[in-house]
Amino acid sequence: MERQYRIIIIGAGIAGLSCAKYLLENDIHDFLIVEAQDRIGGRCQTIPLLEQHVELGVELLHGDQTNNPLYQLAEENHLLDIDDRGSDRDDCYHDEDAESIDEDVVDEVRKVYDEILEKKVPTYPYENYPDLSLGEFIWAEFDQYMTFKKSILEKEELDERQKVINWLHKQHPCLNMIGCNRLTDVSVQGWNSLECLPKDDEHHDATVYLQNGFLNFLHKVFFRQMDEDQIQFNTVVQCISVHEDEQYVDIEVLRHNQQVETYRVKHVVCTQSVGCLKQNMQELFVPPLPQSKRMCIQKLGFGTINKIYLVYSQPFWDADFDGFHFLWDINGSNNEWELESLSDTPFDNQWCKSITGFYVHHRLANVLTTQISGEAAKFIETIPDDLLAVALQELLGHFYPDNPSPLPEQLIRSQWFNDPFTRGSHTFIKLGSSIHDIKQLAMPWPNKPAKPLVLFAGEGTHDRFYGTAHGAYLTGVREAQRLVQLYKT
Ligand SMILES: Cc1cc2nc3c(=O)[nH]c(=O)nc-3n(C[C@H](O)[C@H](O)[C@H](O)COP(=O)(O)OP(=O)(O)OC[C@H]3O[C@@H](n4cnc5c(N)ncnc54)[C@H](O)[C@@H]3O)c2cc1C
Repeated sequence: MERQYRIIIIGAGIAGLSCAKYLLENDIHDFLIVEAQDRIGGRCQTIPLLEQHVELGVELLHGDQTNNPLYQLAEENHLLDIDDRGSDRDDCYHDEDAESIDEDVVDEVRKVYDEILEKKVPTYPYENYPDLSLGEFIWAEFDQYMTFKKSILEKEELDERQKVINWLHKQHPCLNMIGCNRLTDVSVQGWNSLECLPKDDEHHDATVYLQNGFLNFLHKVFFRQMDEDQIQFNTVVQCISVHEDEQYVDIEVLRHNQQVETYRVKHVVCTQSVGCLKQNMQELFVPPLPQSKRMCIQKLGFGTINKIYLVYSQPFWDADFDGFHFLWDINGSNNEWELESLSDTPFDNQWCKSITGFYVHHRLANVLTTQISGEAAKFIETIPDDLLAVALQELLGHFYPDNPSPLPEQLIRSQWFNDPFTRGSHTFIKLGSSIHDIKQLAMPWPNKPAKPLVLFAGEGTHDRFYGTAHGAYLTGVREAQRLVQLYKT
């Protein structure tokens, strides 16, 4: 039997680290963070690149100093990197025939989309009313828009708008934080329960990064406060045995050297992702989790968003260029088109329709970046780097034949779905689940205020900020507060 701790925190992501920070600040020191990987951060992963860095996971702070506690911590530590220059650079929108789409058309449709998402969707009641999918809701609104446009526009102009609508379905910044396969998977009521943090007037259009990357922030604000022996890396929790009558929990861990050890503790704080819980909950908990908790873990959505960076020796685009957008033709003539580079391989090319374009990195002028979500994001994780680089070169050439793309010198990307300690990227409320599933998951087990043995934190347990870094932070603090309260004399 290993040395005794009062509390074990599973995971050194934002939730685990914030839980530890709060315990330390409240004079509870006898805890241990057990982390499966050899690093802190979880879904925060900053990679050095060309004397700068790129983010494979979380990148931006939402909101401002009045509503986001991470923003406040970054400000106190002088780590905010606010980019409020806006973008007056050129965007290029091409369809599959390499025809340019007028930016005014894109702006017109984007305005309608913003209005649907910001004004119309929120009017749908998020409780005591039949649920429907976010996709259905948005389609219905666009049907009205297109019906009206049909009376005044030519077919070609209507087709253009349809391509922009399709592009925005995959690309709209608000929707980019779900990682679902289709918007018809997402509950509109669930979507409405997610709170978007507004920014103050001064920084309304600003993008808020962290100096030297998100991981630097976690190191400086959280990790630096901890003693070395308060965290065990390369240690995978494989079984949580709950002894309710005797009031203890045994945590069986597998170390890097294949040694199995057991910690006996009073409490365990689980911060593993909903994706990991979906996959492991059967073997992980003895006795099994209560049925109500298992159901909500099964019902909640857990999406995948992956990031890709293409590094070139020098830009092959103009200095004032912002991005290459791909406006796919959903029903059109190019359905038979295939990537030649994949033709003699086991990989099909359906996934590439989920790529909406490539954007010049905000700090690295010779790096293009993109995000891909849903099943396509999972699929491309299986394509080897060198083949993917060639396929993406061909894809750029398909939309922009007049601006030939060389082969990138380097391809850097995330593979969140195949990461055994994440299994995806974001929790979302799937059609058929509701905010109550998140609330249920967040409850301790057993749910008795004086005797919580297993506590649950992590972004997927925050009912207003799930899927976000500040949500993860707040849940870590919430569970630490629960424990501090318990031991207050
Ligand atoms: C591509 C991407 C972009 C994002 N962009 C943003 C953004 O711009 N803004 C924003 O606010 N949020 C963003 N997010 C969301 C944000 O990253 C997450 O909500 C947050 O980091 C989750 O933190 P967490 O502590 O809940 O979970 P995690 O970071 O997943 O931490 C869980 C930890 O548990 C460990 N673990 C798992 N299983 C075990 C086990 N059996 N034993 C021991 N350890 C285990 C894992 O290794 C991990 O370190 C993004 C996420 C992704 C993936």
